Amino acid sequence: MRSLIRPLVRALHPYVPGEQPKIRGLIKLNTNENPYPPSPKVLAAITRAVDVRLRLYPNPTSQRLRERLARLHRCRPEQVFIGNGSDECLALAVRAFVEPVSAARRGAADPRATVQYFRPSYSLYPVLADTHGAARNEVPLAPDFSLPGVAALRRGRAWRFDAALTLVTTPNAPSGRGYTRADLDALCRAQRGVVLLDEAYADFADEHALPLALEHAHVLVARTFSKSYSLCFQRVGYVIGHPTLIAALDAIRDSYNVNGLGQVAAEATLADLPYYRAHIATIVRTREALGRTLATIGFEVLPSQTNFLLVRPPVLAARTWLERLRDRRILVRWFDTPELRDALRITVGTDREAAALVRAARQILRDARRSVPATPVRRATRGRARR
Ligand SMILES: *Cc1c(COP(=O)(O)O)cnc(C)c1O
Repeated sequence: MRSLIRPLVRALHPYVPGEQPKIRGLIKLNTNENPYPPSPKVLAAITRAVDVRLRLYPNPTSQRLRERLARLHRCRPEQVFIGNGSDECLALAVRAFVEPVSAARRGAADPRATVQYFRPSYSLYPVLADTHGAARNEVPLAPDFSLPGVAALRRGRAWRFDAALTLVTTPNAPSGRGYTRADLDALCRAQRGVVLLDEAYADFADEHALPLALEHAHVLVARTFSKSYSLCFQRVGYVIGHPTLIAALDAIRDSYNVNGLGQVAAEATLADLPYYRAHIATIVRTREALGRTLATIGFEVLPSQTNFLLVRPPVLAARTWLERLRDRRILVRWFDTPELRDALRITVGTDREAAALVRAARQILRDARRSVPATPVRRATRGRARR
């Protein structure tokens, strides 16, 4: 049967999402979901919308939501695209702006067929490039995950200033590192293809770069209702940018790409922003406090502008920490790549969840030190693998 499948699809390594287990009492800090519920007004709006109207198609352009987002971001509705999660927005951007390699004359080196991004960043990007049959250009971030400057990128020669599409996760995931608007502006100005700034975590950051999508015709900013607006389940994301690029995304999307309840939920969310801003502020406070506490018990904690922390744990290998925390019913995320193998990504939950994590970490450390009392602090895998 496999011969019936396109070779490109047969060879794909699909995206690996974080676990969504159904175990009770589990503390889930592995997929960057918001620990706080949607606002009561949003839940009421969804409930009100569940009636005989479910038999009707939803608004095909999510028009009201576009208008509300245009008002929020001080632009026109023609500068707003709504997608089935920002994942769909990213996939459509690849399809709208990048040629498949087979259609390009100079093969993998053709900038028109190139999706470009930094490593590490959102692990969906390579999957999107491969699915489309595009080439990928992966360029390492600095060792501390900061953004290389334009001059350094020119010197490094690996970066393509003519790539058809450049995807920048900002703030970065999975490191949590924030980037300034000025640095992103300089990068955008140097690029000749489309630049999409993936701002899934921007609401948790001190600074965002949305104005760049309104200033530069080739820059898009993608946002999502999933993380800061507690709406992963409903799948709503959006893109802000020049009307011509937005129209290109509209031209290739499914006719009813955003489900009706998702549209209702997102509109109600925008009508209750103070509720969300309060929770976002709480998450930022919890993040800072958790980072300080983990540092005092020996974790190396990277600065974060998101709702998660990337940490390098002490004494045991990161993978062992993943398992020991799981034994204590706490789920975190570990990535088996050279840059991240020595680290854990921990979603910032509630204060109670953070306290439970710290308690578990202290126990794990105590047990580890008791079982191998003479072992010096193991940092063997650290840093070396990164170049
Ligand atoms: C979560 C996430 C997304 C996807 O968000 P959805 O709207 O749920 O599809 C996109 N980009 C990054 C960097 C993310 O972390």
